[in-house]
Amino acid sequence: MEKNIVVIKGDGIGPEIVNQAIKVLDAIACQYKHTFHYQNILMGGASIDEYGVPLTDEAIKIAKASDAVLLGSIGGDTNTSPWYQLEPSLRPEAGLLKMRKELGLFANLRPAYLYDELKSACPLKEEITEGGFDMMIMRELTGGLYFGERETKEIDGQMVAHDNLVYSEKEIRRIAKRGFDIAMKRRKKVTSVDKANVLDTSRLWRKIVNEVAKDYPEVEVEHMLVDNCAMQLVKDPRQFDVILTENMFGDILSDEASMVTGSIGMLSSASLREDKLGMYEPSHGSAPDIAGKDIANPIATILSAAMMLRYSFDMDDEAKAIEDAIEKVLKAGYRTVDIMSEGKQQVTCSKMGDLI
Ligand code: ATP
Ligand code: MG
Repeated sequence: MEKNIVVIKGDGIGPEIVNQAIKVLDAIACQYKHTFHYQNILMGGASIDEYGVPLTDEAIKIAKASDAVLLGSIGGDTNTSPWYQLEPSLRPEAGLLKMRKELGLFANLRPAYLYDELKSACPLKEEITEGGFDMMIMRELTGGLYFGERETKEIDGQMVAHDNLVYSEKEIRRIAKRGFDIAMKRRKKVTSVDKANVLDTSRLWRKIVNEVAKDYPEVEVEHMLVDNCAMQLVKDPRQFDVILTENMFGDILSDEASMVTGSIGMLSSASLREDKLGMYEPSHGSAPDIAGKDIANPIATILSAAMMLRYSFDMDDEAKAIEDAIEKVLKAGYRTVDIMSEGKQQVTCSKMGDLI
């Protein structure tokens, strides 16, 4: 297959880690006889330095015409970088938000996976994690409380604030479909998380999820209240495959889920929409404190590239080949400094890329 990949190396460690992902993609292209065309665009701090804005219209146009976007990380040290002297709409993060909006990426996908080799970093008890866990959180990204109408005003001498939580049937249906599609590529279980004992939006959410579920008879569906889910993530994370939830619940649960793996530097993410175009990036930030030193862990970015192959290009075997390679390199004892432990072999960012 022939695919056009837009590459945004970004700021901080972005260029170093993306270069490793490209190495791995090139190896895949060679082995499986694909052609990947890469086109670099700027976003974030690098774009501010070059064009004075965090994202240009030209860059958006190029991204829209691509098959997928691979992103390193954007932003710098918020205390010292001149980018943060600019007004909020001109700062690096505004570029990322604009790109998400322009591409219509309404679903955020974040895996939480426990590597057998890195188990000692997991804060959960061993009997809970025996056999490992492997879940995917699908978070709605463009609706709900964070985008509802809001206001703070004075009523009868005191300040009163409100935030509106709104979801339409259409918004719920499209994310639910995406969630079930993902589950079909995995262990075929969806846990839909809501607060249907209290909220109308959650009751609508549940109804629509059940409707969508009818089109996926192979997928097992369960509904869980968000407070219970927060507890279950710590109590028994092995029960989950795909967790499907709205914006705010997903924000909170995805941070919780990544913490229980114990190695946040290893976690990828994807932002998706109805068609195959998606944007793929590591869950971590630009790590300005270690930029340019060739010591960053490139695995989260390489795993993001694997997600790109699976979800945007339907290259399941190729994605699996990358994941297996990472597992193998970890098993052989190679570690970047952030995941280093006694008796293991410390390697640089670029060496890790070579090994994988
Ligand atoms: P964000 O930009 O999302 O707000 P943040 O500022 O909270 O992120 P990061 O930029 O992810 O945080 O960095 C947090 C810490 O983790 C830093 O000390 C950084 O060096 C380290 N870190 C982040 N990513 C990596 C990586 N890939 N390899 C090694 N260390 C990393
Ligand atoms: Mg940061």
